[in-house]
Amino acid sequence: MDLKSGLPFWLIKNGLSENYKRLEKDIETEVLIIGSGITGALVAHFLCENNVKCVIVDRRMESTGSTTASTAQLQYEIDIFLYDLIEKVGEKEAVKAYKMCLESISTLEKIIKKLKIKVDFQRVPSLYIASDAKGKKDLELEFETRKKHGLPVEYLSEKELVSKYDIKRKAALYNNESAQVDTYKLCQAILDYHREHSGLDVYSHTDIKKIKSTKDSITATTDKKISIKAKKIVAAPGFESETLLDEKVMQLHSTYVLVSQPMHPDDLWNEKCLIWETARPYIYIRTTVDNRIMVGGFDEPFQNPKKRDALMDKKNEDILKRFKEFFPKSKIEMDFYWCGTFGETKDGLPFIGEHKKHPNMYFALGYGGNGITFSVIAAEMIKDMYLGKNTDENIFRFDR
Ligand SMILES: Cc1cc2nc3c(=O)[nH]c(=O)nc-3n(C[C@H](O)[C@H](O)[C@H](O)COP(=O)(O)OP(=O)(O)OC[C@H]3O[C@@H](n4cnc5c(N)ncnc54)[C@H](O)[C@@H]3O)c2cc1C
Repeated sequence: MDLKSGLPFWLIKNGLSENYKRLEKDIETEVLIIGSGITGALVAHFLCENNVKCVIVDRRMESTGSTTASTAQLQYEIDIFLYDLIEKVGEKEAVKAYKMCLESISTLEKIIKKLKIKVDFQRVPSLYIASDAKGKKDLELEFETRKKHGLPVEYLSEKELVSKYDIKRKAALYNNESAQVDTYKLCQAILDYHREHSGLDVYSHTDIKKIKSTKDSITATTDKKISIKAKKIVAAPGFESETLLDEKVMQLHSTYVLVSQPMHPDDLWNEKCLIWETARPYIYIRTTVDNRIMVGGFDEPFQNPKKRDALMDKKNEDILKRFKEFFPKSKIEMDFYWCGTFGETKDGLPFIGEHKKHPNMYFALGYGGNGITFSVIAAEMIKDMYLGKNTDENIFRFDR
């Protein structure tokens, strides 16, 4: 699948991994992880920490799937309002999903501290802005719902939005529990750490075409007919689950991102908050450590790469125009842009765990706008499943 086009900023900024290795002979391992993006890297982290021997394979150069295209805003807020999610999946499960996302940001922060890796992780607040009168109503209801369930949230009035952020909109929800990161750097740093400390092997350009399970083992075969035998396989294929999972569980969409030239710090907004809005299509905004502005959005409900790429210039114009409606005085000038595929499930939640048609496998499919927080949750849950810990209350199971 063609996952992205254009120049993803993180890849230019960091470059490709120097640890290139391709699988050239049959091997055995305890756990085989398919996918070397942020999900696969985090799964490897939790398993390696528990002395489980892991091998990762990827059909691309390592970590160069959707992970390089991400804007990497880390928010506990799922794309779907909590009050909507309650309607869809019930109060207990919806609130639990929100709370797990909240916790996952701290979990990621702890991993980064523990491994002592420098990956531009920054705690920043988040502003969810009402784009219009309907958006204001929605945010009022959302505010009450989140407050009732003990989630961190503040309501900002029109006046407060102007005085604190110089943004002229009706209202916003604010929380100080969000973060941003360089996901590609994070992914590479986790892989490098465990290569050095845990004997993790990562093979690029190794495409899994076939999987065969027996009673107590599972064997994956590559496009070059090389086999990898393991006790379990973890599938972390991002949006390319079609060769590994015998079920369609998401809709694919396209999204667009641009990055500005570095700005003068005085030209950025207060607290450098993450910003997103209730309008559809929406834009989402963050900054980078070198004071660039990264703006994404104007999603399209299809995946067709030709159609997606043909829209890139128009989307850049749309995104810049919407950005300037928020910040009319901004001197923003574009430096890089790209577009990418992303997947969405019906209820906005990921799919994590076993699937009845695929014995000896776990799936880590963190679809939706919160893909990275879902990756953290999936990785920790799969580690628990593998170690036989109690995960009975899996709200992200396939048969929910
Ligand atoms: C433009 C954009 C903006 C985004 N912004 C955010 C954001 O702000 N916050 C957020 O949380 N999330 C965001 N996301 C989503 C997030 O980036 C993804 O959820 C996350 O990167 C997925 O990571 P992954 O490891 O699951 O997938 P990937 O990074 O795609 O890794 C999966 C890997 O599996 C490999 N693979 C697949 N099938 C096989 C096979 N059969 N054999 C071998 N290898 C295989 C692929 O080559 C790929 O490298 C965004 C996504 C996009 C595209």
